[in-house]
Amino acid sequence: MQFIDLAAQYQHLKTKIDKRIQDVLNHGKYIMGPEVQELEQKLAEYVGVKHVVTCANGTDALTLSMMVLGIKEGDAVFCPTFTFFATAEVIAFEGATPVFVDSDPDTFNICPIDLEKRIQKVITEGKLTPKAIIAVDLFGLPANYPELEKIAKKYNLKLVEDAAQGFGGEINGKKAGGFGDIATTSFFPAKPLGCYGDGGAVFTNNDEYAELLKSYRVHGKGTDKYDNIRIGMNSRLDTIQAAILIEKLAEFPTELVNRNIAANRYTEDLKKIYKTPVVPEGYLSSWAQYTLVAEDRNTEMLKYKEQGIPTMVYYGTCMHKQTAFESLGYKFGDFPIAERLANKVFSLPMHGYFHNQVKK
Ligand SMILES: *Cc1c(COP(=O)(O)O)cnc(C)c1O
Repeated sequence: MQFIDLAAQYQHLKTKIDKRIQDVLNHGKYIMGPEVQELEQKLAEYVGVKHVVTCANGTDALTLSMMVLGIKEGDAVFCPTFTFFATAEVIAFEGATPVFVDSDPDTFNICPIDLEKRIQKVITEGKLTPKAIIAVDLFGLPANYPELEKIAKKYNLKLVEDAAQGFGGEINGKKAGGFGDIATTSFFPAKPLGCYGDGGAVFTNNDEYAELLKSYRVHGKGTDKYDNIRIGMNSRLDTIQAAILIEKLAEFPTELVNRNIAANRYTEDLKKIYKTPVVPEGYLSSWAQYTLVAEDRNTEMLKYKEQGIPTMVYYGTCMHKQTAFESLGYKFGDFPIAERLANKVFSLPMHGYFHNQVKK
Protein backbone atom coordinates (compact mmCIF):
# COMPACT_ATOMS: atom_id res chain seq x y z
CA MET A 1 0.00 0.00 0.00
CA GLN A 2 1.16 3.52 -0.81
CA PHE A 3 0.77 6.52 1.49
CA ILE A 4 -0.42 8.62 -1.47
CA ASP A 5 -0.95 6.62 -4.67
CA LEU A 6 -0.20 9.09 -7.48
CA ALA A 7 0.26 6.21 -9.94
CA ALA A 8 -3.35 5.05 -9.45
CA GLN A 9 -4.57 8.55 -10.24
CA TYR A 10 -2.35 8.76 -13.33
CA GLN A 11 -3.64 5.40 -14.59
CA HIS A 12 -7.19 6.69 -14.19
CA LEU A 13 -6.51 9.95 -16.08
CA LYS A 14 -3.72 8.79 -18.40
CA THR A 15 -5.42 9.30 -21.79
CA LYS A 16 -6.61 12.81 -20.93
CA ILE A 17 -3.38 13.96 -19.27
CA ASP A 18 -1.18 12.54 -22.02
CA LYS A 19 -3.24 14.36 -24.64
CA ARG A 20 -3.04 17.65 -22.72
CA ILE A 21 0.74 17.36 -22.40
CA GLN A 22 1.04 16.52 -26.11
CA ASP A 23 -1.03 19.62 -26.96
CA VAL A 24 1.51 21.78 -25.12
CA LEU A 25 4.42 20.04 -26.87
CA ASN A 26 2.67 20.77 -30.18
CA HIS A 27 2.04 24.47 -29.59
CA GLY A 28 5.32 24.99 -27.71
CA LYS A 29 4.18 27.90 -25.52
CA TYR A 30 5.89 26.52 -22.41
CA ILE A 31 5.76 29.74 -20.41
CA MET A 32 2.38 31.42 -19.84
CA GLY A 33 0.75 29.39 -22.60
CA PRO A 34 -3.04 29.34 -23.09
CA GLU A 35 -3.51 26.50 -20.57
CA VAL A 36 -2.33 28.79 -17.74
CA GLN A 37 -5.18 31.22 -18.32
CA GLU A 38 -7.66 28.39 -18.87
CA LEU A 39 -6.66 26.86 -15.53
CA GLU A 40 -6.85 30.21 -13.72
CA GLN A 41 -10.41 30.70 -15.00
CA LYS A 42 -11.45 27.18 -14.00
CA LEU A 43 -9.92 27.56 -10.54
CA ALA A 44 -11.71 30.89 -10.06
CA GLU A 45 -15.03 29.28 -11.03
CA TYR A 46 -14.46 26.27 -8.79
CA VAL A 47 -13.52 28.30 -5.71
CA GLY A 48 -15.93 31.15 -6.42
CA VAL A 49 -13.43 34.04 -6.39
CA LYS A 50 -12.87 36.86 -8.86
CA HIS A 51 -9.13 36.42 -9.48
CA VAL A 52 -6.70 33.49 -9.54
CA VAL A 53 -3.02 34.13 -10.22
CA THR A 54 -0.98 30.95 -10.59
CA CYS A 55 2.70 30.84 -9.65
CA ALA A 56 5.68 28.50 -9.23
CA ASN A 57 4.81 26.89 -5.87
CA GLY A 58 2.81 27.32 -2.67
CA THR A 59 5.65 29.05 -0.85
CA ASP A 60 5.90 31.69 -3.58
CA ALA A 61 2.11 32.08 -3.43
CA LEU A 62 2.49 33.04 0.24
CA THR A 63 5.51 35.26 -0.47
CA LEU A 64 3.59 37.07 -3.24
CA SER A 65 0.76 37.64 -0.75
CA MET A 66 3.18 39.12 1.77
CA MET A 67 4.54 41.42 -0.96
CA VAL A 68 1.05 42.55 -1.97
CA LEU A 69 0.18 43.32 1.65
CA GLY A 70 3.44 45.27 2.04
CA ILE A 71 4.68 43.16 4.95
CA LYS A 72 8.10 44.42 6.08
CA GLU A 73 10.59 44.69 8.92
CA GLY A 74 8.97 45.75 12.17
CA ASP A 75 5.66 44.07 11.32
CA ALA A 76 4.16 41.20 13.30
CA VAL A 77 2.40 38.47 11.34
CA PHE A 78 0.53 35.87 13.39
CA CYS A 79 0.52 32.21 12.31
CA PRO A 80 0.10 28.80 13.92
CA THR A 81 3.19 27.14 15.38
CA PHE A 82 1.84 23.72 14.34
CA THR A 83 2.17 23.93 10.54
CA PHE A 84 4.58 23.37 7.66
CA PHE A 85 7.68 25.59 7.75
CA ALA A 86 6.74 27.64 4.65
CA THR A 87 3.84 29.37 6.47
CA ALA A 88 6.26 31.02 8.91
CA GLU A 89 9.26 31.18 6.57
CA VAL A 90 7.63 33.67 4.17
CA ILE A 91 7.01 36.12 7.04
CA ALA A 92 10.65 36.09 8.09
CA PHE A 93 11.72 36.20 4.43
CA GLU A 94 10.10 39.65 4.16
CA GLY A 95 12.05 40.73 7.26
CA ALA A 96 8.90 40.73 9.41
CA THR A 97 8.49 38.78 12.65
CA PRO A 98 6.35 35.66 12.83
CA VAL A 99 4.35 35.59 16.06
CA PHE A 100 3.30 32.03 16.77
CA VAL A 101 -0.10 30.94 18.02
CA ASP A 102 -1.23 27.74 19.74
CA SER A 103 -3.62 25.22 18.16
CA ASP A 104 -7.17 24.12 18.78
CA PRO A 105 -6.89 20.59 20.25
CA ASP A 106 -9.78 19.23 18.16
CA THR A 107 -9.29 20.79 14.72
CA PHE A 108 -5.46 21.23 14.97
CA ASN A 109 -5.98 24.68 13.43
CA ILE A 110 -5.00 28.10 14.81
CA CYS A 111 -6.83 28.78 18.09
CA PRO A 112 -8.77 32.08 17.86
CA ILE A 113 -8.68 32.57 21.65
CA ASP A 114 -4.90 32.22 21.83
CA LEU A 115 -4.57 34.39 18.71
CA GLU A 116 -6.33 37.29 20.39
CA LYS A 117 -4.08 36.94 23.47
CA ARG A 118 -0.94 37.02 21.31
CA ILE A 119 -2.19 40.08 19.38
CA GLN A 120 -2.86 41.94 22.65
CA LYS A 121 0.59 41.00 23.93
CA VAL A 122 2.27 42.45 20.82
CA ILE A 123 0.22 45.65 21.18
CA THR A 124 1.11 45.95 24.90
CA GLU A 125 4.83 45.39 24.26
CA GLY A 126 4.74 48.09 21.57
CA LYS A 127 7.79 46.86 19.65
CA LEU A 128 6.16 45.40 16.53
CA THR A 129 3.23 46.58 14.41
CA PRO A 130 0.54 43.90 14.10
CA LYS A 131 -0.21 43.62 10.36
CA ALA A 132 -1.63 40.27 9.33
CA ILE A 133 -2.71 36.75 10.22
CA ILE A 134 -1.83 33.69 8.14
CA ALA A 135 -4.29 30.92 9.01
CA VAL A 136 -3.63 27.40 7.73
CA ASP A 137 -6.23 24.84 6.64
CA LEU A 138 -4.25 22.07 8.28
CA PHE A 139 -4.68 18.53 6.93
CA GLY A 140 -7.52 19.79 4.67
CA LEU A 141 -9.85 21.29 7.27
CA PRO A 142 -10.55 25.02 6.83
CA ALA A 143 -9.50 27.11 9.83
CA ASN A 144 -12.19 28.85 11.91
CA TYR A 145 -12.70 31.77 9.47
CA PRO A 146 -15.93 33.07 11.04
CA GLU A 147 -13.96 33.80 14.26
CA LEU A 148 -10.72 34.78 12.51
CA GLU A 149 -12.52 37.32 10.31
CA LYS A 150 -13.97 38.98 13.43
CA ILE A 151 -10.54 39.19 15.06
CA ALA A 152 -8.91 40.54 11.88
CA LYS A 153 -11.57 43.24 11.69
CA LYS A 154 -11.35 44.14 15.38
CA TYR A 155 -7.54 44.67 15.25
CA ASN A 156 -7.42 45.94 11.64
CA LEU A 157 -5.28 43.04 10.43
CA LYS A 158 -5.17 41.47 6.96
CA LEU A 159 -6.17 37.81 6.85
CA VAL A 160 -4.36 35.33 4.59
CA GLU A 161 -5.65 31.79 4.08
CA ASP A 162 -2.87 29.24 3.54
CA ALA A 163 -4.96 26.62 1.73
CA ALA A 164 -1.96 24.59 0.51
CA GLN A 165 -3.61 21.58 2.16
CA GLY A 166 -7.13 22.94 2.24
CA PHE A 167 -8.08 23.14 -1.45
CA GLY A 168 -11.52 21.51 -1.74
CA GLY A 169 -12.52 22.19 1.87
CA GLU A 170 -15.64 24.20 2.72
CA ILE A 171 -17.42 26.07 5.49
CA ASN A 172 -21.19 26.19 4.99
CA GLY A 173 -20.77 25.74 1.24
CA LYS A 174 -18.09 28.43 0.87
CA LYS A 175 -14.92 26.94 -0.56
CA ALA A 176 -11.35 27.10 0.72
CA GLY A 177 -9.42 29.66 -1.26
CA GLY A 178 -12.28 32.09 -0.76
CA PHE A 179 -11.53 33.14 2.82
CA GLY A 180 -9.65 36.20 4.05
CA ASP A 181 -8.21 39.03 1.95
CA ILE A 182 -5.93 36.70 0.00
CA ALA A 183 -5.70 32.91 -0.10
CA THR A 184 -2.98 30.66 -1.45
CA THR A 185 -2.58 27.04 -2.42
CA SER A 186 0.12 24.61 -3.50
CA PHE A 187 0.06 22.08 -6.35
CA PHE A 188 2.95 20.04 -4.91
CA PRO A 189 2.20 16.47 -6.08
CA ALA A 190 1.09 15.20 -2.66
CA LYS A 191 -1.43 17.99 -1.97
CA PRO A 192 -5.16 17.39 -2.52
CA LEU A 193 -4.86 19.00 -5.98
CA GLY A 194 -1.31 18.34 -7.14
CA CYS A 195 0.56 18.58 -10.44
CA TYR A 196 3.65 16.70 -11.65
CA GLY A 197 6.18 19.13 -10.26
CA ASP A 198 5.92 22.39 -8.33
CA GLY A 199 3.03 24.78 -8.68
CA GLY A 200 0.92 27.23 -6.70
CA ALA A 201 -1.85 29.81 -6.91
CA VAL A 202 -3.14 32.94 -5.20
CA PHE A 203 -6.87 33.71 -4.88
CA THR A 204 -8.45 37.10 -4.22
CA ASN A 205 -11.56 39.15 -4.87
CA ASN A 206 -9.52 42.38 -4.71
CA ASP A 207 -8.80 43.88 -8.18
CA GLU A 208 -5.85 45.91 -6.97
CA TYR A 209 -4.21 42.87 -5.32
CA ALA A 210 -4.72 40.84 -8.51
CA GLU A 211 -2.92 43.48 -10.60
CA LEU A 212 -0.04 43.58 -8.14
CA LEU A 213 0.22 39.77 -8.06
CA LYS A 214 0.45 39.59 -11.86
CA SER A 215 3.21 42.20 -11.80
CA TYR A 216 5.19 40.67 -8.92
CA ARG A 217 5.19 37.17 -10.45
CA VAL A 218 6.96 38.49 -13.59
CA HIS A 219 9.80 40.72 -12.34
CA GLY A 220 7.53 43.54 -11.20
CA LYS A 221 6.40 44.13 -14.77
CA GLY A 222 4.51 47.20 -15.97
CA THR A 223 3.22 47.11 -19.55
CA ASP A 224 5.51 44.12 -20.29
CA LYS A 225 8.36 42.21 -18.69
CA TYR A 226 10.95 44.67 -20.02
CA ASP A 227 9.15 47.54 -18.32
CA ASN A 228 9.87 46.94 -14.63
CA ILE A 229 8.04 49.22 -12.26
CA ARG A 230 8.71 47.41 -8.97
CA ILE A 231 10.99 44.70 -7.59
CA GLY A 232 9.29 41.35 -8.14
CA MET A 233 10.28 37.76 -8.71
CA ASN A 234 10.14 35.06 -11.39
CA SER A 235 7.34 32.79 -10.26
CA ARG A 236 5.16 31.39 -13.03
CA LEU A 237 3.34 28.09 -13.31
CA ASP A 238 4.70 26.03 -16.24
CA THR A 239 2.20 25.57 -19.07
CA ILE A 240 2.67 21.77 -18.91
CA GLN A 241 1.74 21.79 -15.21
CA ALA A 242 -1.32 23.94 -15.96
CA ALA A 243 -2.35 21.45 -18.66
CA ILE A 244 -2.06 18.55 -16.21
CA LEU A 245 -3.98 20.47 -13.55
CA ILE A 246 -6.90 21.19 -15.90
CA GLU A 247 -7.55 17.45 -16.19
CA LYS A 248 -6.93 16.83 -12.50
CA LEU A 249 -9.29 19.65 -11.50
CA ALA A 250 -12.06 18.13 -13.64
CA GLU A 251 -11.74 14.89 -11.66
CA PHE A 252 -11.19 16.61 -8.32
CA PRO A 253 -14.84 16.71 -7.11
CA THR A 254 -15.09 12.91 -7.49
CA GLU A 255 -11.79 12.40 -5.68
CA LEU A 256 -12.98 14.68 -2.91
CA VAL A 257 -16.06 12.51 -2.39
CA ASN A 258 -13.83 9.41 -2.35
CA ARG A 259 -11.50 10.96 0.22
CA ASN A 260 -14.46 11.71 2.46
CA ILE A 261 -15.76 8.14 2.12
CA ALA A 262 -12.32 6.82 3.09
CA ALA A 263 -12.08 9.23 6.03
CA ASN A 264 -15.53 8.26 7.34
CA ARG A 265 -14.64 4.57 7.19
CA TYR A 266 -11.38 5.19 9.02
CA THR A 267 -13.25 7.08 11.73
CA GLU A 268 -15.89 4.35 12.13
CA ASP A 269 -13.12 1.81 12.54
CA LEU A 270 -10.73 3.75 14.73
CA LYS A 271 -12.76 6.05 16.96
CA LYS A 272 -12.69 3.58 19.84
CA ILE A 273 -8.90 3.29 19.73
CA TYR A 274 -7.63 6.82 19.01
CA LYS A 275 -8.70 10.43 19.05
CA THR A 276 -10.01 10.65 15.47
CA PRO A 277 -10.21 13.91 13.45
CA VAL A 278 -12.98 16.35 14.33
CA VAL A 279 -14.87 18.05 11.48
CA PRO A 280 -17.09 20.78 12.99
CA GLU A 281 -20.72 21.16 11.89
CA GLY A 282 -20.95 22.84 8.48
CA TYR A 283 -17.29 22.13 7.61
CA LEU A 284 -15.98 19.87 4.84
CA SER A 285 -12.38 18.61 4.85
CA SER A 286 -10.38 17.79 1.73
CA TRP A 287 -8.39 15.30 3.86
CA ALA A 288 -4.90 16.29 2.79
CA GLN A 289 -4.02 14.01 5.71
CA TYR A 290 -6.01 11.70 7.93
CA THR A 291 -4.39 12.36 11.28
CA LEU A 292 -4.83 10.50 14.57
CA VAL A 293 -3.71 11.35 18.09
CA ALA A 294 -2.22 8.44 20.06
CA GLU A 295 -0.59 8.46 23.49
CA ASP A 296 2.24 6.23 22.24
CA ARG A 297 2.44 6.83 18.52
CA ASN A 298 5.65 4.87 17.95
CA THR A 299 4.00 1.64 19.08
CA GLU A 300 0.94 2.36 16.93
CA MET A 301 2.99 3.23 13.85
CA LEU A 302 4.97 0.02 14.26
CA LYS A 303 1.74 -2.01 14.36
CA TYR A 304 0.68 -0.50 11.02
CA LYS A 305 4.13 -1.06 9.57
CA GLU A 306 3.91 -4.76 10.42
CA GLN A 307 0.66 -4.91 8.42
CA GLY A 308 2.31 -3.19 5.44
CA ILE A 309 0.46 0.09 6.01
CA PRO A 310 2.70 3.18 5.77
CA THR A 311 2.25 6.04 8.26
CA MET A 312 3.82 9.49 8.51
CA VAL A 313 4.27 12.16 11.18
CA TYR A 314 3.00 15.64 10.23
CA TYR A 315 4.49 17.53 12.07
CA GLY A 316 7.00 16.43 14.67
CA THR A 317 8.49 19.89 15.28
CA CYS A 318 6.53 23.08 15.94
CA MET A 319 7.75 26.33 14.38
CA HIS A 320 8.82 27.77 17.74
CA LYS A 321 11.18 24.78 18.17
CA GLN A 322 12.78 25.05 14.72
CA THR A 323 16.46 26.01 14.77
CA ALA A 324 15.82 28.72 12.16
CA PHE A 325 13.49 30.50 14.62
CA GLU A 326 15.66 30.04 17.72
CA SER A 327 16.40 33.76 17.91
CA LEU A 328 12.70 34.52 18.50
CA GLY A 329 13.27 33.26 22.05
CA TYR A 330 10.30 30.92 22.54
CA LYS A 331 10.68 28.13 25.07
CA PHE A 332 9.23 24.72 25.80
CA GLY A 333 5.74 25.07 27.27
CA ASP A 334 4.84 28.26 25.39
CA PHE A 335 2.36 26.36 23.18
CA PRO A 336 1.11 23.39 25.24
CA ILE A 337 -1.49 22.12 22.77
CA ALA A 338 0.69 22.33 19.68
CA GLU A 339 3.60 20.73 21.55
CA ARG A 340 1.37 17.85 22.61
CA LEU A 341 0.15 17.37 19.02
CA ALA A 342 3.73 17.39 17.69
CA ASN A 343 4.47 14.51 20.08
CA LYS A 344 1.37 12.43 19.49
CA VAL A 345 0.01 12.77 15.95
CA PHE A 346 0.52 10.41 13.03
CA SER A 347 -1.21 10.11 9.67
CA LEU A 348 -2.61 7.17 7.70
CA PRO A 349 -2.63 6.70 3.90
CA MET A 350 -5.09 9.00 2.14
CA HIS A 351 -5.80 9.68 -1.53
CA GLY A 352 -8.71 9.70 -3.96
CA TYR A 353 -8.30 6.12 -5.20
CA PHE A 354 -8.42 3.78 -2.26
CA HIS A 355 -11.73 4.25 -0.45
CA ASN A 356 -12.68 0.75 -1.57
CA GLN A 357 -9.62 -0.62 0.20
CA VAL A 358 -10.57 0.91 3.55
CA LYS A 359 -12.41 -1.67 5.59
CA LYS A 360 -16.17 -1.11 5.88
C1 LIG B 1 2.97 22.49 1.18
C2 LIG B 1 2.68 23.66 1.99
C3 LIG B 1 3.17 24.94 1.67
C4 LIG B 1 4.17 25.19 0.59
O1 LIG B 1 3.86 24.71 -0.67
P1 LIG B 1 5.02 24.38 -1.72
O2 LIG B 1 4.28 24.24 -3.02
O3 LIG B 1 5.67 23.12 -1.29
O4 LIG B 1 5.96 25.53 -1.75
C5 LIG B 1 2.76 26.00 2.45
N1 LIG B 1 1.96 25.84 3.49
C6 LIG B 1 1.48 24.63 3.86
C7 LIG B 1 0.57 24.53 5.02
C8 LIG B 1 1.83 23.50 3.13
O5 LIG B 1 1.38 22.31 3.49
